[in-house]
Amino acid sequence: MLINMTDVFTEEEKSVVKEVPLELTSICFQGEDFRILEKSPVTLTLTNTGQGRASIEAEAAVKVELKCDRCLREVTKEFTLQFSAQAVSPDVADEQEQDEERGFLEGYQLNVDSLISNEIITCWPMKILCKEDCKGLCSVCGKDLNEGKCDCDTFVPDPRMAAIMDIFRENKEV
Ligand SMILES: [Zn+2]
Ligand SMILES: [Zn+2]
Repeated sequence: MLINMTDVFTEEEKSVVKEVPLELTSICFQGEDFRILEKSPVTLTLTNTGQGRASIEAEAAVKVELKCDRCLREVTKEFTLQFSAQAVSPDVADEQEQDEERGFLEGYQLNVDSLISNEIITCWPMKILCKEDCKGLCSVCGKDLNEGKCDCDTFVPDPRMAAIMDIFRENKEV
């Protein structure tokens, strides 16, 4: 959804509160799409803070279907968002400001989906686990070790060991 910001940018001390639907149906994170399961409307407070400038305060709750880092099972994560951002109209923004808001401002219009999507990506958890002591998948046969042991000798039965394996994997990616 696009919201025209022209009046907020130009009218001194103007402040409007809007409740708009979130049209977003998935979040793209590191090239992968994650489904949105539930979402609340977005509450926006748009306030003029000077010629061509506005502050945006946003609130929303979004449930996203993530995947456990270890066993790939689906994990539902609720993002409760409450944040603010600054918007500068294209005619007064300097280069750096244009860079910062690229993605949620399209000319004089606020792209609500991009604003929310950016914030969810910022809040993305470092580690996603279906449960603290998830045993993960066997690296040889792929069996879900939460459902029982397999016969391979490389499986990691101890959750403390699984945590260490995570650190190994993370370091490898760097
Ligand atoms: Zn898991
Ligand atoms: Zn196995």
